[in-house]
Amino acid sequence: MTNDKKRIVIIGGGFAGVQCAGTLSRGLARDQAEVVLFNDENHLVFSPLLAEVVGSSLSPLDVVVPLRQLLPDVLCRTETVRTIDLAASEIEYESDDGEIQRLGYHHLVIACGSVTNLNVVPGMADHAFPLKTVGDAVALRSHIMAQMERAEVCPHPERRRWLLTFIVVGGGFSGAEAAGEINDLVRSSARYFKNFHREDVRVTLIHSREQILPEISPDLRDFAGKKMEKAGVSLVLNARVASATPEGVGLQGGQFIHGGTIVCTVGSAPSPVVGRLAAPTEKGRLLTEPDMRLRDSKNVWAIGDCALIVNAHDGQPSPTTGQFAERQGTQCAQNIIRVLQGQATRPFSFSKLGELCSIGGHSAVADLFGFHLSGFFAWFVWRGVYLFKLPSWAHRFQVGFDWAWLLLFPRDLAHVRARPTDRVSHAHYQPGDFIIRQNDPPLNFYVIEQGEVEVVRSSPRDQNGEVIAVLGPGSFFGEKALLSNEPRVASVRARTPVEVLVMGKNVFTQISSTLTPLRDALAQALNRRRVDVWKDEPQAYELLKRTPLKELMEPVPQPLLKPTAALAEVGHAFVEHGNEFFYVSSDGQTLDGVVTITDLLRARAAGAAAQTPTNQFMTANPVALAADDDCAVASNVIRECRLKALPVVERKDTRKLVGCIRVRRLLAYVFKHAVIGAPDSCQARNQLAGGAGRGMDWNNPAS
Ligand SMILES: Cc1cc2nc3c(=O)[nH]c(=O)nc-3n(C[C@H](O)[C@H](O)[C@H](O)COP(=O)(O)OP(=O)(O)OC[C@H]3O[C@@H](n4cnc5c(N)ncnc54)[C@H](O)[C@@H]3O)c2cc1C
Repeated sequence: MTNDKKRIVIIGGGFAGVQCAGTLSRGLARDQAEVVLFNDENHLVFSPLLAEVVGSSLSPLDVVVPLRQLLPDVLCRTETVRTIDLAASEIEYESDDGEIQRLGYHHLVIACGSVTNLNVVPGMADHAFPLKTVGDAVALRSHIMAQMERAEVCPHPERRRWLLTFIVVGGGFSGAEAAGEINDLVRSSARYFKNFHREDVRVTLIHSREQILPEISPDLRDFAGKKMEKAGVSLVLNARVASATPEGVGLQGGQFIHGGTIVCTVGSAPSPVVGRLAAPTEKGRLLTEPDMRLRDSKNVWAIGDCALIVNAHDGQPSPTTGQFAERQGTQCAQNIIRVLQGQATRPFSFSKLGELCSIGGHSAVADLFGFHLSGFFAWFVWRGVYLFKLPSWAHRFQVGFDWAWLLLFPRDLAHVRARPTDRVSHAHYQPGDFIIRQNDPPLNFYVIEQGEVEVVRSSPRDQNGEVIAVLGPGSFFGEKALLSNEPRVASVRARTPVEVLVMGKNVFTQISSTLTPLRDALAQALNRRRVDVWKDEPQAYELLKRTPLKELMEPVPQPLLKPTAALAEVGHAFVEHGNEFFYVSSDGQTLDGVVTITDLLRARAAGAAAQTPTNQFMTANPVALAADDDCAVASNVIRECRLKALPVVERKDTRKLVGCIRVRRLLAYVFKHAVIGAPDSCQARNQLAGGAGRGMDWNNPAS
């Protein structure tokens, strides 16, 4: 980039970010500015149509538009921005390989919307479906189809009605649209099922005020409420949900509404990148100057749902709607262009065009330029307006065609489940490749055949991630998330070239439930990995993290054995040198294996002859630490592998031996330098002892 060329970075490819990027790329020449748009998905989501996806009126692909096709002159990056460094005018983002990178900007536009927060009501996060993303809409549609299939084969009438009861919490636009769509879908589908009828279906919309749709005028609210009730939606008004359970929702006041599906359209929180920003907010929204610049900033702007912008038109804070987000995007871009051209900026000002809401049953309410419309005509207008708001002609044709099709033919009831084919396979990874990423859904179980991996956990404080363990051949990972069916809590990255055996979820479940040794090994590993041995001794763990391994490393135990050395020779070496183990190396430098007295005795018991070479009974390619690892990693690896000592190699990618680290030295160091609590609180000591101590005296660090 030349010195004069400015970089404008936009975080968020929603309505606000896309309008801003488009206006900037049209208003500035390429040699004047580079516009970079970060969005964690590669598409814009047209959220007003998400309820149509739930109701099977539209396909999920109809409501998304690829950003790079929409914004051909903008550099679109499908990456997540983690933090904003206002002082340095830089953002930190996570690149595809998990590395944290920085990028400088001349102007930054924060347009990252908000995220769903179901924790506002106890139990809601566990039992309710949110409706914010395309994934949410697809998951909800799939669940509704599954409920109908279950109801069809359910022999108990009461249970069947429970399966066919859908509770929608929140009577705003998204709640009313979702309730209307679900009601239409399930009732119109009843004719294809033999075991339930339209009368068994119940859709309940719970709202905290006297009427639903507070955003529109009272006469339209009244119409919407009556129309929805006539179509079969029960309205529960002036009611607040106090709890959600697998059986339904409890209301403040004690009433309980039973139902097999809860959809929650209320509750939002600031996007994490906004949460981490040290800037003034109100109710989680960034406060801005009238021209949309972040308070006290010259080159950072905030627009859309994440910002609280006062509308100069009426002096009121802008509502969180797509309509306002788009206008803010356009006007913010115009202000940035004015700044680059040395002109004065203008305050945000917009007179809203109207409100539109579809309420199901081919009916809608519309307040357009002061004209109030309702019923089928309003529904027709609603569809027309949204069709032309879609950002590309391809989408307009596609959506228009799908809608026309549904006027003539029934909704599609196919219930496609994302169940990948079961598989057992082998996979190869190069150093630095991620095998599992934190927060990924659980799909596979892995056994390391060759090489080493490191387990890395990131946190909001440490985005680069902390290496918490190193695993080598014979170790396995991925079991915890599979067994609990929860997202991965840590990433696993190849440290050396790695070969892994990959087992699909179903194969893993079948084998682990029938093969007792695997089940026992899993139970032990889960127990070992679940306990945080340093929980009660954080100062000891901090000390280990600060201490480079080199500080406690001991020389490589001598002599090094050759892989060809005969069993009898190895026996002599143990007698002569009194070692507990020897490292094996063919060139006198590279670690090929380790041999212990136990290996020797086992080989003899298995009938090995005195001439049997060492490489036939040693542990080949044992897990090794690198000299630049810290002592906290060493303590975790020692515990995981249940060893008293570990080899240390020069670097992660080489196997050149440089020393060894012993558990007794590690613990003696901790006892000497960190205040370890009273004897009964020494969980870490006992846990490590359980892992690595074979007959060690923990009261005597020198043992
Ligand atoms: C179901 C539903 C129905 C709705 N119906 C209507 C309606 O009928 N009319 C109306 O006007 N409004 C409606 N809205 C509201 C409207 O969708 C929002 O007001 C609008 O989308 C806000 O636009 P935005 O650009 O601020 O944020 P969003 O559209 O939420 O876009 C923000 C984008 O930023 C991305 N992002 C966030 N953080 C990061 C990060 N750190 N790094 C990279 N990317 C990031 C997000 O993934 C997202 O793609 C509805 C909303 C929903 C959920």
